[in-house]
Amino acid sequence: SGSYSTDSNKRFHGKVGRVPVGIGRRRMRIVVTGGAGFVGSHLVDKLIGRGDEVIVIDNFFTGRKENVVHLFGNPRFELIRHDVVEPILLEVDQIYHLACPASPVHYKYNPVKTIKTNVMGTLNMLGLAKRVGARFLLTSTSEVYGDPLQHPQKETYWGNVNPIGERSCYDEGKRTAETLTMDYHRGADVEVRIARIFNTYGPRMCLDDGRVVSNFVAQAIRKQPMTVYGDGKQTRSFQYVSDLVDGLVALMEGEHVGPFNLGNPGEFTMLELAEVVKETIDPSATIEYKPNTADDPHMRKPDISKAKELLNWQPKISLREGLPLMVSDFRNRILNEDEGKGA
Ligand code: NAD
Ligand code: UDP
Ligand code: UDP
Repeated sequence: SGSYSTDSNKRFHGKVGRVPVGIGRRRMRIVVTGGAGFVGSHLVDKLIGRGDEVIVIDNFFTGRKENVVHLFGNPRFELIRHDVVEPILLEVDQIYHLACPASPVHYKYNPVKTIKTNVMGTLNMLGLAKRVGARFLLTSTSEVYGDPLQHPQKETYWGNVNPIGERSCYDEGKRTAETLTMDYHRGADVEVRIARIFNTYGPRMCLDDGRVVSNFVAQAIRKQPMTVYGDGKQTRSFQYVSDLVDGLVALMEGEHVGPFNLGNPGEFTMLELAEVVKETIDPSATIEYKPNTADDPHMRKPDISKAKELLNWQPKISLREGLPLMVSDFRNRILNEDEGKGA
């Protein structure tokens, strides 16, 4: 039971052989770039679950086969090892473009590759969308607002980004990806959607990706001190992954280009986050202060009025409800790791 109308998909008729999957909608073929990653794999589960065909394109830089291995026997699922920096020919109805490392530790590891992924990768996927008449969704980021001087951040804010800093490969990469997306929309009539995603957490995050939620949760489980960078008074707003996936699908199926902020407005300092992790996992957990990284945004909180009004979307799961949902997954994987070492 899909939420979208067949009318909006009429232009794709005949492009891909499609089988009816129920009253009111036809099966679509959908590409998810970065679909073996954290967010991508949850999105793929939702699309497969509602009856569509999904092709994942991933180079496994930060993604893992384990995230999609449960789909390997499904005839509606395909996995292609491919780098989006290189062109690719496919026939599809929709493209969710997620391929790009998201954790600061990962995207700073090879900054030139990060820029190439954002610019050349996005260009290739837009070229593909143009050729086959597919609808294209870009997963941009709250990082386009940089170290914001407006709080909370609205989509109309142009941001405060350092163009030559250590985070620029990602911030400026995503800003360029947004520009390319709008230029293909205006210049080549490609149907596009832009999501600006705020900090998201949940099962299947990389254990050691350096992001704050995965770090604190893994540290608390391993009985190590939680590493608070700087004074811990900087803020972020944390969204549970299923809320994000619902928002991405609502955006793709809706009639509005965006950009749309997709995030949970519940705002926490890093010290408050440590407190919630402590309550959830281990009351005896401790913290340890470490120097902060360069250009770290002081605060971040989405204004989601636009998505509420036009997409009829808002997050449902608070941090206190969502954290326990990722803890069992982290516990299992940390346990397996330890057993692996002992063997
Ligand atoms: P992730 O690192 O788990 O997933 C990224 C995926 O893209 C991985 O599977 C990786 O292997 C793949 N990939 C990277 N470079 C590639 C390339 N050149 N070719 C093919 N595949 C490539 O990160 P995530 O948290 O799932 O993020 C997914 C998307 O959402 C990213 O575009 C990210 O910028 C965006 N986003 C995420 C967050 C968040 O908090 N998770 C916040 C803002 C934006
Ligand atoms: N592209 C692709 N798959 C396609 C169509 C295009 O990977 O099905 C790539 C193409 O190789 C190019 C980019 O997308 O690098 C932009 O394509 P477009 O046709 O917009 O521009 P052009 O090829 O004219 O530069
Ligand atoms: N942070 C922290 N301890 C960690 C990792 C990160 O205090 O172990 C802080 C970091 O300095 C930043 C915030 O947590 O202020 C969010 O960092 P993250 O890397 O998760 O994402 P960002 O929002 O910066 O992309």
